[in-house]
Amino acid sequence: MKSVLKAFVPKNKCVACGSCMESCPVGAISIFKGIYAKVNTNYCIGCKKCLGVCPISIIHFEEVKNEN
Ligand code: SF4
Ligand code: SF4
Repeated sequence: MKSVLKAFVPKNKCVACGSCMESCPVGAISIFKGIYAKVNTNYCIGCKKCLGVCPISIIHFEEVKNEN
């Protein structure tokens, strides 16, 4: 079984600036109710483009087991 990296946003720290959403090439991030960024891990390809744009550097990555 292969592990893949996925982005995660701690919702209590996010200020919903939208920078990560704009940087994501596959549209995996949305701003939930204008409050925090939410990553759809089904779409995230682990490219880390969102990592560098967060002004408060809260995005982190976790290995997730891929069934495929
Ligand atoms: S790692 Fe890449 S694909 Fe995943 S949420 Fe960030 S920008 Fe989007
Ligand atoms: S760039 Fe950072 S602060 Fe801005 S919406 Fe994304 S996770 Fe939240």
